[in-house]
Amino acid sequence: MSDSTFKSLLRFMTANIAVVLLGFLFFPTHTMAVGQCYSTVFANFDPIYVLQRISLLAVCLLIEWRFVGWKDCSLRKLLWPSRSAMHDLVIGTINLCGFAIILFLFFTANVIPVLPASTRELVGIEWTSRTDNLPLQIVFWFVLRDFVLYWFHRLLHEFAFAWEIHKYHHSATVFTMLTASRVHFLERALSHVFVTLPLVMLGMPGEPFLAITILNDALSRFRHSMVNWGFGWFGWIVVSPIAHRIHHSYLPEHWDVNYGDSLTIWDRLFGTYYGGGILNSEVGVTDNLIDNVDVISGLLIPYAKAIQRFGDSLTTNEWWQTSRRRQEEVNVEIIQDAHDDSVARRAA
Ligand SMILES: [Zn+2]
Ligand SMILES: [Zn+2]
Repeated sequence: MSDSTFKSLLRFMTANIAVVLLGFLFFPTHTMAVGQCYSTVFANFDPIYVLQRISLLAVCLLIEWRFVGWKDCSLRKLLWPSRSAMHDLVIGTINLCGFAIILFLFFTANVIPVLPASTRELVGIEWTSRTDNLPLQIVFWFVLRDFVLYWFHRLLHEFAFAWEIHKYHHSATVFTMLTASRVHFLERALSHVFVTLPLVMLGMPGEPFLAITILNDALSRFRHSMVNWGFGWFGWIVVSPIAHRIHHSYLPEHWDVNYGDSLTIWDRLFGTYYGGGILNSEVGVTDNLIDNVDVISGLLIPYAKAIQRFGDSLTTNEWWQTSRRRQEEVNVEIIQDAHDDSVARRAA
């Protein structure tokens, strides 16, 4: 990291600490409300819930080992981590074990988490069930949440500043299953406002949310694995590991496709489904700033870049990042080499 980048990051962080302290000083009740919201909705500090998620991960790791072999399995990549796997390991574990809120508050200067808490108090919608039929609730909220997630994910790719944040997830150059939890805390903040908050406002009760989170947890582990599963006819409905691997590809043919979280219907409906025959054997982004730096710098870079891009957009009034613009930014040579070296034709 250059001296000037480091100094500007230092300035950002100092300003951030000041805002966090002011936030705690002036909004103590809101801060508590956030904590409460998290412990009930996300069950972040519930040891049973954390244990459930860790056991689920362990089971997924063993299943994957059985199917892809020791050489390619996530367990081996996590036990002898590369630089990319190290980011997954540290940030994935922090997210998985529920300590994310501390960093989450820090990176958002305590502003964004306060917003939903305040709005919730203002609107006053209670977490009440609309029907007693739990399976029906789960299906309804699962589909609705997936629809919201599709658009949230798509906008993370299309807004220039948001892409800088989401790119943290896409900077993984190997899939370790924990890559699913490798999400920048600013992205978690945005998802809190644009996904969780609207669903809470619409009245999503707690139980289906927890059931959906566990179900999605298992699916997302396999979506971030190199298992060659297309899920057969099931893959027409549910996003398969192959479909999501394509979403993580740096081949231009694969850009801006397969945004779906669990269901493929939204990609089909809104024209972003990839039906081509090329399957990437590698994942990552062409302008990868994260892969060669340590974990702390890896968290600071998207933060600084996102603020910088946000400032640029304010000045130029250009908020959207089209695929074309991204194509112009990347090193075409790297792509061509990668294409020649690593593309494997999917077996017919
Ligand atoms: Zn993405
Ligand atoms: Zn992903």
